[in-house]
Amino acid sequence: MSHDASVEQQILATIDKWVEQELRPIACEFDQADEYPGDLVEQMKELGLFGATISEEYGGLGLSASTYSRIVSRICEVWMAPSGIFNSHLIMASCVERAGTQAQKEHFLPKFATGELRGGIGLTEPDAGSDLQGIRLVAKKDGDQYVLNGTKTWISNGIKGNCLAVLTKTDPSASPPHRGMSLFICEKGEGFSVGKKLKKLGYRSIDSAELIFEDFSVPADNLVGGEEGKGFQQVAGGLELGRINIAARGAGMAKGATNMALHYAMDRRTFGKAIAEHQAIQLKLAEMSTRAAAAELLVHQAADKFDRHERCDLEAGQAKFFASEAAVQNSLDAMRVFGGYSYSPEYEIERFYRDAPLLCIGEGTNEIQRMIIAKQMVARAT
Ligand SMILES: Cc1cc2nc3c(=O)[nH]c(=O)nc-3n(C[C@H](O)[C@H](O)[C@H](O)COP(=O)(O)OP(=O)(O)OC[C@H]3O[C@@H](n4cnc5c(N)ncnc54)[C@H](O)[C@@H]3O)c2cc1C
Repeated sequence: MSHDASVEQQILATIDKWVEQELRPIACEFDQADEYPGDLVEQMKELGLFGATISEEYGGLGLSASTYSRIVSRICEVWMAPSGIFNSHLIMASCVERAGTQAQKEHFLPKFATGELRGGIGLTEPDAGSDLQGIRLVAKKDGDQYVLNGTKTWISNGIKGNCLAVLTKTDPSASPPHRGMSLFICEKGEGFSVGKKLKKLGYRSIDSAELIFEDFSVPADNLVGGEEGKGFQQVAGGLELGRINIAARGAGMAKGATNMALHYAMDRRTFGKAIAEHQAIQLKLAEMSTRAAAAELLVHQAADKFDRHERCDLEAGQAKFFASEAAVQNSLDAMRVFGGYSYSPEYEIERFYRDAPLLCIGEGTNEIQRMIIAKQMVARAT
């Protein structure tokens, strides 16, 4: 799964160059227009990002969680939305690689790695987000097919993607409910349609959609793992990497906001000196840089454990919780440093301020995250 350090350094250097040359110049314009960055997506395919964490034997880059999280942070230092185009796709891929049958791995993973098939995960429904066992989308067996009926919402890549991992109820009467939940890989087709594109405060340019399933038939061969009743655990297993990924976004954004505030504070002058020389601004800069550094270290700690195949739900939860809050706080502090100009779309800090709160919601809200952390603390102390 892991490469030697020099190969990983080369990959990071390539990403660095791409971020500066391709991503930074278009971020403002595409975000303001809420326009999908189609050219960037093609470049992501060439960079191998759709296969970043997929094993090399299935055509992916086989990157460690540590290298992957550095890539995610680097992108989010500049613009968070493009990372979402491959992040949730890779959660789908990790569900197949960890829990899929051999035939499913051989069929789907090479197509996921090239981006020929790409999408994300469909868990949330209008009436069930944190409480996933409350979903209502039903999959009913019919010969060698399952027929899906129901609605998903807030699904990232729901419009531009062509394939999604969809969590369903195959036995709505099961008790506890998770025993009746199953995950399917669904390629778009008749009966699987987009209800509407959702408007958002931030995280623009990436599509979030309501998806409607009306008598949509999916081959029984696409039931992940080939056995009903395992979907909830399969999804929960993918969330550790998902949380490290959100944490990496937060650490990147916290650092990006700090850098913007620092450079602005060194340029902007009031009362005869740069505002970076006023103590009130210095206190903010110091707090922001400390928060960003702590977030980065927590991400590395969780990713290291993940790469050593150790249980890391506590560490991933801590990293996700702290880094997402750091991104929100640093965006707000940077707004203060920018004064009136923070309110202008001419400066990128207003985008950070709109994008960051999503990190406190996705992959388990920060309320749920703290519950996971505390439960693990008790379990480890028992
Ligand atoms: C831009 C965006 C992209 C998204 N992308 C995806 C995607 O690709 N796929 C997908 O499946 N979903 C996606 N989501 C949905 C997201 O995962 C959910 O919004 C999230 O899980 C929270 O669910 P909810 O919105 O239903 O809130 P609810 O579960 O209704 O929670 C509301 C509030 O109650 C709190 N709460 C809930 N239960 C408890 C409890 N037991 N104890 C204490 N507090 C509690 C929550 O923390 C929250 O503050 C996305 C959402 C957004 C906004």
